[in-house]
Amino acid sequence: MKTVDEHLASVLAGIGPLSALELTLLDAHGCVLAEDVSATHPLPPFDNSAMDGYAVRSVDVASASEQTPVTLPVVGDVAAGSTTPYSVQPGLCVRIMTGAPLPPGADAVVPQESTDEGLAQVSIRAAATAGQYVRRAGEDVTPGTVVLTNGTHLGATQIGLIAAVGRDRVLARPRPRVVILSTGSELVDPGQPLTPGKIPDANSALLTAASQEAGAIAFRVGIVPDDPRQLLDTLEDQLIRADLVLTSGGVSVGAYDVVKDALGRLGTVAFDRVAMQPGMPQGFGRIGPDETPFFGLPGNPVSAYVSFEVFVRPVLRRMLGVDPINRPIVRARLTDPVTSPYGKRTFARGWLTVEAGKYVVRPVGGSGSHLIASLSAANALIVVPDATTELEADATVDVMMLERRQR
Ligand code: AMP
Ligand code: MG
Repeated sequence: MKTVDEHLASVLAGIGPLSALELTLLDAHGCVLAEDVSATHPLPPFDNSAMDGYAVRSVDVASASEQTPVTLPVVGDVAAGSTTPYSVQPGLCVRIMTGAPLPPGADAVVPQESTDEGLAQVSIRAAATAGQYVRRAGEDVTPGTVVLTNGTHLGATQIGLIAAVGRDRVLARPRPRVVILSTGSELVDPGQPLTPGKIPDANSALLTAASQEAGAIAFRVGIVPDDPRQLLDTLEDQLIRADLVLTSGGVSVGAYDVVKDALGRLGTVAFDRVAMQPGMPQGFGRIGPDETPFFGLPGNPVSAYVSFEVFVRPVLRRMLGVDPINRPIVRARLTDPVTSPYGKRTFARGWLTVEAGKYVVRPVGGSGSHLIASLSAANALIVVPDATTELEADATVDVMMLERRQR
């Protein structure tokens, strides 16, 4: 048997970030930038008003106060987007809106709250200092500045910045495309009637959602019956759009274990026993002309999911080019005992909370790898070391944090 760490090391060997592509701005969201992005124009692009109010020469309103307001004629209006060529001559002012270009001559904006909001003339009740409520061209970014460096993981705010510098495309590493199929002649699509002996295919939905959460573009192909020819044909059809292929089911030693039967013969996929619970049988290798990475995960939903978290997600994260590739592991106090077979690393379902500033984890449900309801009630996996068979209540344990969700 291989250890979890050995198997993880062997699946990660030879996996690197995907080659960079020119991506449209929103396709690049969640991806890793593969160029330095610079500003070609200043940000803001021109001097503009930070308030709705009046553009003035500050010297003209230096003496203004509640008791001694200053009245100025208003020569016009400038709205955001306006190109009207007003200028502010001594003793005059222009009504101005937030984001509108500051007219030549003006050096300050008096907010409308400090005025009577007059249209032909305005009474100003507060003095203004030079530069007040003026957003200067280039005060955020000067032209030529690198605003984002190669390797940046693009979240919403970085996407906003790229848009603000006027780019609609960037060079970035694309999301890996994952093809997901479930094997099993007992499976029916969710929503279809169940006949005796049949069960809904939970894994392809589960693994598709998990792949998306990991940052991949996931294609749920669905069910393939336990027939080697159909499996190989489906894989051949799907390889064209795959950076990685995931199957579930058919990897153990049963008579109809189709993935093992069909792919074992190719010689490029190995079927190993990994010292873990759940998830002992694991298939991994390369298939097709492009040597696409292939995972044959076990069929029980909990085994499939835990295998995904432990082996597949790190591979997808490596392909995306992000760091860290692993889920965060925290130390937590265990509320109740947990047992584990000797020589296997157990990933037990748990509910992680913070109490009095410390992590606390409570085991959730039984250990059966078909128990998908308790999987869904967990937000963490309690990691029991390979050589440990029993953890007492109050023991301190490693806990892998899963996706953050509200209960
Ligand atoms: P297998 O690995 O194919 O022997 O499957 C192990 C167990 O997981 C069996 O009880 C299967 O019925 C079940 N199983 C396999 N694939 C799925 C699936 N896609 N959704 C739900 N259960 C499944
Ligand atoms: Mg099966």
